[in-house]
Amino acid sequence: MRLCPACAKERPDFDTPCPACGHVVPQRGGIPILAPELAGEGQGFKVESFADLYANEAQSFWFQGRNDILSWVIGRFVRPRGKFLEIGCGTGFVLSRLKRDFPDTSLTGSELFDTGLGYARQRLPGVELLQMDARALPYASEFDGIGAFDVLEHIAEDERVLSEIHRALRPGAHLVVSVPQHPALWSLADEIACHERRYTRGEMEAKMRRAGFEVVMSTSFVTILLPLMFAVRMSDRNRRALEKDPAAEHRMHPLVNKVLRATMTLELALIRLGLRLPAGGSRLVVARKPA
Ligand SMILES: [Zn+2]
Repeated sequence: MRLCPACAKERPDFDTPCPACGHVVPQRGGIPILAPELAGEGQGFKVESFADLYANEAQSFWFQGRNDILSWVIGRFVRPRGKFLEIGCGTGFVLSRLKRDFPDTSLTGSELFDTGLGYARQRLPGVELLQMDARALPYASEFDGIGAFDVLEHIAEDERVLSEIHRALRPGAHLVVSVPQHPALWSLADEIACHERRYTRGEMEAKMRRAGFEVVMSTSFVTILLPLMFAVRMSDRNRRALEKDPAAEHRMHPLVNKVLRATMTLELALIRLGLRLPAGGSRLVVARKPA
């Protein structure tokens, strides 16, 4: 059910006034704005990056390869024909893939920043979009699946977000999270991306358990590229390139991009076979709210 952001009582929708307290959710371009004071300039994200993401996501081995992994894991763990919420949907690149792969799933995208939602609206006609703060989700026992893909590392209160997600899920429903891993890889790229942290091994799982979840699957990915990633992130040349052009990491020669994509395709094949990769640039965890 939906909860009123003003009085926390159940309300049928965000389009009509709250029956309990009369609160009206403002809308912009048909999108309910639940946290208007946070919708503009970013804490935790540089909103000007959305334009670069929108232009480059579809060509980038990272966003394509991550979409392959997420689509597989969501197909495996989230009930078909259910309701799925993506928190921090950005420009809607992941949701556009889920819409194609799971046409019977009812998809909702939420994002703190207006700028991202503007792009998501263009990409996702017919998909419910909401502006909201992940630290105050207006739901209880509503969703059959929730995803947060490279979002929690931007938020200081990540454990509070996990508790909010726990309440918003139905009993027995799944949470799918990806986060950057290994603090040793911390570099200017993390600072540019406004990351609060890279997660240590086991950190996300421990935080999920503290929020009431059971962890059902956990693996690293971007494992084959880990040595390359370490070398690039630590190099002075790369640092200078990023200082000049913060979006440089998302643009590369098409052939290089192809080779890097192939490594992610191979990793997904291994993960599908049941292999769990111990180290990698990212961590993927699936957790379940006990029934
Ligand atoms: Zn109310």
